[in-house]
Amino acid sequence: MVDDMLRTPGAVRDAERWTAHNYHPLPVVISSAEGAWLTDVDGRRYLDFLAGYSALNFGHRHPTLIAAAHAQLDRLTLTSRAFIHDQFADFCRELAELCGKDMVLPMNTGAEAVETGIKVARKWGYQVKGVPAGQANIVVAEGNFHGRTTTIVSFSTDEDARADFGPYTPGFTVVPYGDLDALTAAIDENTVAVLLEPIQGEQGVVVPPEGYLPGVRAVCTERNVLFIADEIQSGLGRTGATFACDHEGVTPDMYLLGKALGGGIVPVSAVVANADVLGVLKPGQHGSTFGGNPLACAVAVEVVRMLATGEFQRRSAELGARLHARLRELIGKGLVAVRGRGLWAGLDIDPALMTGREACERLAERGVLAKDTHGSTIRLAPPLVVTEEEIDHAVTQLAAILTA
Ligand SMILES: *Cc1c(COP(=O)(O)O)cnc(C)c1O
Repeated sequence: MVDDMLRTPGAVRDAERWTAHNYHPLPVVISSAEGAWLTDVDGRRYLDFLAGYSALNFGHRHPTLIAAAHAQLDRLTLTSRAFIHDQFADFCRELAELCGKDMVLPMNTGAEAVETGIKVARKWGYQVKGVPAGQANIVVAEGNFHGRTTTIVSFSTDEDARADFGPYTPGFTVVPYGDLDALTAAIDENTVAVLLEPIQGEQGVVVPPEGYLPGVRAVCTERNVLFIADEIQSGLGRTGATFACDHEGVTPDMYLLGKALGGGIVPVSAVVANADVLGVLKPGQHGSTFGGNPLACAVAVEVVRMLATGEFQRRSAELGARLHARLRELIGKGLVAVRGRGLWAGLDIDPALMTGREACERLAERGVLAKDTHGSTIRLAPPLVVTEEEIDHAVTQLAAILTA
């Protein structure tokens, strides 16, 4: 096919012309997808090794989830929280049970779940812990990614994410990630919460040292501070367990969930905690027009049921072991380091070879879509329905671009 017959170049130009440039997408224009595969407007197929930053843990258009969405579309889509609908209680109960907690507060996006967690922790601090008015502080980690709202970027350490968006929300103390002594030293009598990703995805799939998360749990318990785990990207099967915290036997006081909870169909996020924490909210103090809507609940309850079988977590653990073994073979052959757990990997490419962006462009030319994070780091997060053969295929393409 000659180039000027392709639809992609024009579609890329139109997308650039008519949108704010807050993203720098790869020049592919997707028109359909199924499972782990994407098809572009020119009929080319790609293996999806980003999976919507883990929003597509169950792959594109999983039949069970699509059926649930279709059925719900034909019955009821939105009520607002002013009324109760018949999908609400099941979703909240089953998600609470999956998390081993008392109750759920549904929202839409991940950033909203983080904002909700911050508000709940502050109110808990004033009403339960007895922190003096306006004095609550929350300890967070360097290299964090919790979303894009003004409060959340206030404690980002990524200058691109933060610069020129001030004045910033006060009340956050930033400490190095993985350093328990620094975290312990930052906690004072007005600390209401420690907010962490159990694995830092955006930072390049950074796994903290063994013992860190149990240490954080212990110090939070000892100092009467809430441990908030942002499992928006790491949770719901991605790491080979339901939650990344599970690998170290840690139970946080609050789970923040999002991304995969919506089954790749609708934005669904949630805060999950016990009644002594989430119970501080009373009518009128927090809310969302779309949070917990019937369509969202109908899809998300199926996501919870799929996770309750353990099948996806097992797949992620087993296939993840293969992915990591294959990737480790490339260390010294173009890769400098490989990190991660389950079907989640952060790769540092030898910066002398290419940037992460260049690596992703070359992978795209070979039919594999992935995303760079910083510098020469790229992140792989295939859907959990990916097969062994597809993993091998993707790693073969990676090896090819590294040695080309
Ligand atoms: C993606 C992400 C968020 C923000 O979620 P949005 O739905 O994009 O607002 C928050 N925390 C973590 C760890 C994430 O990966």
